[in-house]
Amino acid sequence: MGCYDTIIINCPKCGKEAIVQTKALGDNTLETFGVGDTFDSDNYNGAFQIKDNCEHCGEVLKIQIKNGKIIGTTCEAPKYIERAWGEVDEM
Ligand SMILES: [Zn+2]
Repeated sequence: MGCYDTIIINCPKCGKEAIVQTKALGDNTLETFGVGDTFDSDNYNGAFQIKDNCEHCGEVLKIQIKNGKIIGTTCEAPKYIERAWGEVDEM
């Protein structure tokens, strides 16, 4: 059994609420994060591509993070890309 955290964010493409999992941003304690929330753990700064795509339209979801806080979605090229098992590649 793997644990994860949940991010709820409005998809920039279809405008619907996307509910996606992350294994990289929080403490993997089934917390839910949205815009304005701050992660307890790693302080990422920059565009972060979440491993799950929008479940409605398949759009790749990228969020802007500043000092561990979710600012919103972004169309910037990602600085971090989360892979399937929560590894993060820094570009
Ligand atoms: Zn979408």
